[in-house]
Amino acid sequence: MKTQLMTTKCCKCRSIRVNGNWFPEPTFLAWDVIYTHTYCPECFEQEMAMVEKYFQDKPVNAIVCSGNRIIAA
Ligand SMILES: [Zn+2]
Repeated sequence: MKTQLMTTKCCKCRSIRVNGNWFPEPTFLAWDVIYTHTYCPECFEQEMAMVEKYFQDKPVNAIVCSGNRIIAA
């Protein structure tokens, strides 16, 4: 049975998290890895700034998450 590790990859810049630290995406890994995705702290800040800017001029009553999309109501 092969050993597979699970690690987190940034869905924007593709950095990976190892022991709580973020590193650029490696070109080669010596083991099989299963990825789960999120934003690294830097990309999260950038994305949240874009979301805040988007809604700054468009006040909404509610924000609904549908799948991977955000819908303003
Ligand atoms: Zn990132």
